[in-house]
Amino acid sequence: MDTTYSHQNTLLVVDDKHDNLKLLLAFLNTAGFNVLVAENGQKGIEIATLAHPDMILLDVMMQNMDGFKVCQHLKSQADTQDIPIIFMTALTHLDDKVKGFKLGAADYITKPLQLEEVLARVNVHLSLRQLQQQLSVQNQLLQKEVAERQQSEQALKTAHERFITILEGLEAAVYVTDMQTYEILFVNKHIDQLVNNNNELLGKVCWQVFHRTQTSPCTFCSPNQIMTGKGQPTSAYHWEYQNPDTQRWFYIQGRAIRWIDGRWVRLEVATDITERKQAEEALRANEERFQLAMRGANEGLWDWNLEKNEVYYSPRWKQILGYGEQELSSHPTEFFERLHPDDISQSRENVTAYFEKKIPHYEITVRMQHKQGHYVWILSRGIAVWNEQGKALRMVGTHMDLTAQKQTEDALSQAKKAAEIANRAKTAFLANMSHELRTPLNAILGYAQLFKRDKTLNAKQQESIAVIQRSGEYLLTLISDVLDVSKIEANRMELFPVEFDFKHFINEINELFLMRSKQKGIDFHYQFITQLPTVIQADETRLRQIIINLLSNAVKFTKQGEVIFKVGSTQASSSHFPNWKIRFQVEDTGIGIASEELSKIFKPFQQVGERNYQMQGTGLGLAISQKLVEMMGGQLHVESTLGEGSTFWMELDLREVSSKGQLESIDKPVMIGISGPSPKILVVDDQGENRSILSHLLTPLGFEVFKACDGEEGVELATQIQPAAILMDLVMPEMDGFEATRQIRKIPQLKDVVIIAISANVFELDQQNSIKAGCDDFIAKPFQTERVLEKLNQYLNLKTIYQRTAKKSDIQAQADLSLTGPSPEQAAILFDLSLIGDIEGILDYLENIEKNKSELKQFVFKVKKLAEDFQVHQIGDLIKPYLQKNPPLSKEVEN
Ligand code: ADP
Repeated sequence: MDTTYSHQNTLLVVDDKHDNLKLLLAFLNTAGFNVLVAENGQKGIEIATLAHPDMILLDVMMQNMDGFKVCQHLKSQADTQDIPIIFMTALTHLDDKVKGFKLGAADYITKPLQLEEVLARVNVHLSLRQLQQQLSVQNQLLQKEVAERQQSEQALKTAHERFITILEGLEAAVYVTDMQTYEILFVNKHIDQLVNNNNELLGKVCWQVFHRTQTSPCTFCSPNQIMTGKGQPTSAYHWEYQNPDTQRWFYIQGRAIRWIDGRWVRLEVATDITERKQAEEALRANEERFQLAMRGANEGLWDWNLEKNEVYYSPRWKQILGYGEQELSSHPTEFFERLHPDDISQSRENVTAYFEKKIPHYEITVRMQHKQGHYVWILSRGIAVWNEQGKALRMVGTHMDLTAQKQTEDALSQAKKAAEIANRAKTAFLANMSHELRTPLNAILGYAQLFKRDKTLNAKQQESIAVIQRSGEYLLTLISDVLDVSKIEANRMELFPVEFDFKHFINEINELFLMRSKQKGIDFHYQFITQLPTVIQADETRLRQIIINLLSNAVKFTKQGEVIFKVGSTQASSSHFPNWKIRFQVEDTGIGIASEELSKIFKPFQQVGERNYQMQGTGLGLAISQKLVEMMGGQLHVESTLGEGSTFWMELDLREVSSKGQLESIDKPVMIGISGPSPKILVVDDQGENRSILSHLLTPLGFEVFKACDGEEGVELATQIQPAAILMDLVMPEMDGFEATRQIRKIPQLKDVVIIAISANVFELDQQNSIKAGCDDFIAKPFQTERVLEKLNQYLNLKTIYQRTAKKSDIQAQADLSLTGPSPEQAAILFDLSLIGDIEGILDYLENIEKNKSELKQFVFKVKKLAEDFQVHQIGDLIKPYLQKNPPLSKEVEN
């Protein structure tokens, strides 16, 4: 209903009595009302419907439509039903009144109208209606408020449910505690992650429940930590906590929040980070291991991000170059700019080749400049991380400081060089010493032997002389052995393979040891196990040296029993395998060697076992033999039982050669002269003995020999006499043989003269140097006379006269006819002496046997002559047949 009528209310008066209408109109107008009138019921309905008066004064008794019907109609219409209606009627019956009220009338005024009463009733009902209207508005407002409240309650409920769902879904323990008392006010269902027993947590003190070992609240979440002095919350705080029972780790975040009751409380959210912690721990352990490994390896680390072109250089990387951790940028130039200029291109090429996958590894040794300016050696290694297209994205690697290693290598190489120089000096010294010692020793031994033949000396003096001789001979062996050992140590031992008759070679050795064993009273057996090659190629002298050393030891260390020498092939030559594998084995029944001593005996100067045996040797033989065997491609073996005996053996690959040449050499004619004009030979040697030996050798054969005692004299004499050949010693005081040769070669008329170096310096280098200086050939001292003659014949193309040694069969057949010879025993002793070239020993022994057996005079004379001419080899040939009671035959032939 429109309330604008309230200050000037509109009243509708419906009455079919004109006077009534007039009266009421005038009166009510005067009273301040706006008055509408209708003179019948129908009209009244129309006006009421259109104008909506605040009140209707309705007459009951009207024609056509009475007041009750009008009321009934208006009350039945929605827009008019609320208009209060006051009936005006003369009817005073109660039933009419009841009927009127039942139809919805507000009041009843009885006619005749009392105007004051009308006004009073109108006013009452208007104010009633106003109050009613106000009540209705109030009611509507109230209803709206109720609806709104219901809505917000519903929203609150939904929000709470959502909040709880989120809290429970958080997978984190959430709890709220009182700021001051630490009393637990709220926990979500995940609180069981934090504590085992989550029953009845509300109301308990949080730190007593969560940190059972603590005796006071946690310092980090005390009220001062999370609230400012002005009572405002600080920002969120966090810490990590490990549950002592479950060992699980939690990340706890907390902050002050307002609680439902308005106070500040502590909200905490704990997230389980055990797995992250374990991963971190594993990572840390890995990192620690890696760092330790790097530190252990002392290596620097670099990590090159190729996309950003940035490099991480580890502290150690920088330290190697003298920089601190904060120095140097992360640019690749820090590496490249410090490279030694000579290493830059190689380093770049290496990296590029690796990126292009041309090389499988990046690894390079470079020099890098240290902060102090010097260079350090670095081994740089790395591997790349490739993308799917095979492009390198990143490269990680290490730097190893090689400076110390390089310094050690340099020092080692210096030391090695120094050692080599020292070794060379030692070898040269030993070679010189042996050279120098031999000459005086020759004099000592020579005089000792001369004195031995002196019949005026008494037995005591003879004995003393014998001691001098034995000591001298021992010294001579020692010098040879020491020289061999020094050659081995300096790696300058060389083999000079020649072709020789193998069986003849073995027979010579057998003959020698047959005799030696007999002298010692033990048996010697040679066992020829298999068929053997006839002529082989090997270093005959060295092979003999090895076998003689083994057999000498066997005889020396055997007091009784036997020595067996076995030779056999374990593999004969074939079309596939031109070599024979020959096994040489020496067995004895001697003192044997203790097993713990076996490894020692091959070391130089090592002697084991009984002392008195040790006096009889140098301890060098086996060391030399073992080395020689190795040089020949074999291995020297030993098996021995103390007190029972020893077996030494070796297997060598020996090449068989066609036997023709060698067989001829057995019958090789011996040169006894030259026909035609005498060639002039100049002998240049500072040793008188050497000059006279060569002179004694060559003069009888028809050479004209000239002698010069040093290089200078040699050059002078050569210019004067224009010799056909010069035999030049190399080591001489003042001007040596090398210089003399060079000077001679400069003299035009001598530039083609034959010069043959003869030297006791038997090292290969000396031979090479002599050839470089201008010599045509080289002969080692002590020389074999045949070799000198052969060389002279070769270069001078001489007309030679030969004495040919008859074939063995001839010799055997005619031996007895020619000379009465020594017994096989005597022959063996002489043969042995001839093998070792002991001229004085031979002369001595000859005198001995001649004294006892005068029919040997002729034989003795012949041998003596050969001995005086140093024809040791021929002495051997002459004696050999008598080892088997067969004398020789000789005849002369001209070439
Ligand atoms: P040397 O015989 O001059 O002492 P070796 O080098 O030839 O030197 O031998 C070294 C050592 O090996 C000998 O001193 C000896 O102790 C031991 N030895 C070598 N051969 C035999 C052997 N056949 N029987 C027992 N001992 C041996």
